[in-house]
Amino acid sequence: MVKLGQHFLKSEELLKEIADYLEITKDDVVLEIGAGDGRLTKYLTSAKKVYAIEIDKKLFLKLKKKMKEFSNVEVINKDVLDYEFPKEVNKIVGNLPYEISSAITEKILLFLNSQLHKGVKDLFAVLMYQREFAERMTAFPGLRDYSRLSVLVNYYADCQIIKYIPKTAFRPAPKVESALVKLIPKDVKRDDLLFYVAKILFMHKNKKVINALIDSRHFLKEKDKNKLRKILAKSLGKLGEKKVFYLEIDEIMLIKQKIKDLLQNN
Ligand code: SAM
Repeated sequence: MVKLGQHFLKSEELLKEIADYLEITKDDVVLEIGAGDGRLTKYLTSAKKVYAIEIDKKLFLKLKKKMKEFSNVEVINKDVLDYEFPKEVNKIVGNLPYEISSAITEKILLFLNSQLHKGVKDLFAVLMYQREFAERMTAFPGLRDYSRLSVLVNYYADCQIIKYIPKTAFRPAPKVESALVKLIPKDVKRDDLLFYVAKILFMHKNKKVINALIDSRHFLKEKDKNKLRKILAKSLGKLGEKKVFYLEIDEIMLIKQKIKDLLQNN
């Protein structure tokens, strides 16, 4: 079932290594995404509690059988995107189904952010992604891979690629290489407008900020191109002339503030 990203890790050594990156203690509550038949789950059982989520009914039944002897492992047969993460979770792990990378990353970042604000300690995630996706997550201004995703990840987390994993580590082998990534949440406020603004800017990432915003004017509730150009030129000044893919996060925050004023006045 390719659309569920069912590529399983073959090597016990690598599975154990992934679990080791989690540095599990007996106080940890771990959430595993896409647990499959439990080949990684079995290395997580020293935690206080493990929630293992698997969407596929057949695999879920295998997982359930395998985890029967561990009273601290709860297996859940759900789509992780519809699943409300338990409030006591502090570590997240998963050899992710790559088809849901964007949606699940957003969900994980917002969850870690809200856990941080609730005072949950020792919070982080160790996740396997498609190599190109991981490179977009860690890209910085000026790089070809710099995108809305890079902004989102960089705002909410310290993100590092732990290591690259070859296709041959999986059965069946996927078409693409993978990368193991660690995400540690930063102490920042949730900011939905920032990502809305990043989204409309990066739809035109090779353009100047002012032109990108004019091209996305339907998102700004301003139909009149010339009027908008005048307003933006006045409020953005030099920043309006910069190309979107060179924008630092602080500059995107500044643009967000100007857009907020614009939306409020409209
Ligand atoms: N944990 C195993 C491993 O490391 O080899 C399996 C990983 S496999 C790459 C991804 C797993 O995620 C599959 O078992 C697949 O059925 C499951 N999956 C796919 N989409 C899912 C979703 N939306 N919610 C929960 N699990 C999902």
